[in-house]
Amino acid sequence: MVVALIAGLIGYVIGCTQDQRDRDAQARAQEAKTAKDDGQQDSSQADQVQATATRYSPVTARGRDFYAPNSEDLGPDEMRLVACGTGMPTARPKQAASCWLLELGNGDKFIFDIGTGSAERISALQIPYNYLDKLFISHLHTDHFGDLDALFVGGALAGRQKPLRVWGPSGDTPERGTKYALEHLRKALTWDLDGRKGITDPRGYNLEVHEFDYKGMNEIVYQENGVTVRSWPAIHSLDGPVSFSVEWNGFKFVFGGDTYPNKWYDEYAKDADLAIHECFIAVPDMIKKFKFTPQSALSVGTQIHTAPEAFGKVMSRIKPRMAIAYHFFNDWDTSSAIYERIRTTYDGPLSLSNDYMVWNVTKDEIRVRMAAVDEDVWPPPATEKPLVPDPTLRIPYSDEIADGKLDVKEVIQPIYDEVNKEYGLDEKQD
Ligand SMILES: [Zn+2]
Ligand SMILES: [Zn+2]
Repeated sequence: MVVALIAGLIGYVIGCTQDQRDRDAQARAQEAKTAKDDGQQDSSQADQVQATATRYSPVTARGRDFYAPNSEDLGPDEMRLVACGTGMPTARPKQAASCWLLELGNGDKFIFDIGTGSAERISALQIPYNYLDKLFISHLHTDHFGDLDALFVGGALAGRQKPLRVWGPSGDTPERGTKYALEHLRKALTWDLDGRKGITDPRGYNLEVHEFDYKGMNEIVYQENGVTVRSWPAIHSLDGPVSFSVEWNGFKFVFGGDTYPNKWYDEYAKDADLAIHECFIAVPDMIKKFKFTPQSALSVGTQIHTAPEAFGKVMSRIKPRMAIAYHFFNDWDTSSAIYERIRTTYDGPLSLSNDYMVWNVTKDEIRVRMAAVDEDVWPPPATEKPLVPDPTLRIPYSDEIADGKLDVKEVIQPIYDEVNKEYGLDEKQD
């Protein structure tokens, strides 16, 4: 309705008075609304009614059909999903590895997976990092958590003033669990984190890890603020991987981690509004384009992962409002093979995802668009006032290293003078 109204309002007839134009616009918007309300036409048909009624002008915008981050409110009964990584472990500019941002109309935001390269995609959405403190990891392959360091450290530097909360599965041994992985990631970052002490707001440089049983069957792993997240096992590589569902406000969102088709997804993902499930590159393309041997293409493409035909089979059984396939290189010469193979087993609503694809979900409609992002983006402002760091916490250089400083104080001092003057401070050089 809002879209129809806006489309109506931009209609323009040369020579009309403003009042006439307003009346025309209202009439067209009402026409589109009536068509939709009567159930005679779906929203795209209603939009077509609107489009044909629009009068074009060389100086009037015709609206747009992409998602521009930080430009749309989310309704109280709406959720928005943004694909921040749809690719593979092999890095490429076009597609980061697995990462999905789910935003709910109650203000909650959840990140599912943080695969290699995906932190950059998240930054493009211009969301203050204090709102991005909840991360759920499906399993511990790097294409599903390889950018955790970037979200953890870079997010803290960019305004997350609280711990990053991470939920992830246990393993069949403690060393194969999320807790072990993140404790050791934290240890690997010792030099990085020590070097930031006393220099920036320290509150974001903490991980809060919630490891749960990977064998839990549709068990609740998170429940806050009217949102329930459940987990169940996946079958992939080793024991440990899981899938998640989110229930909120009558909606059901499902994020399937890597898996061979499994009976738990078949049961617990039923009737989802959005159902994400992996869908691997077609085996012939793995051999020809990815240079796999036929043996390993068959094993990886059909046994460790889900082949497109099997993806379709799964979706035919769970019947989501929208099936979302990911985990393949989505190019002009690979997507048709995937699409055609899926269509041998599934004829329902389908998105072959790519990075920056966006789904807005209401009870009436699922609107799918691409986001248009600004590559020159800077971090959004912190939602709370940053803490001034305590310089006594800084770890000093050794004498040998400190003695190596060139004397450039003369040229640095004007920078201090400039900032001290503008902000009423009395900061001094080291
Ligand atoms: Zn995996
Ligand atoms: Zn994967």
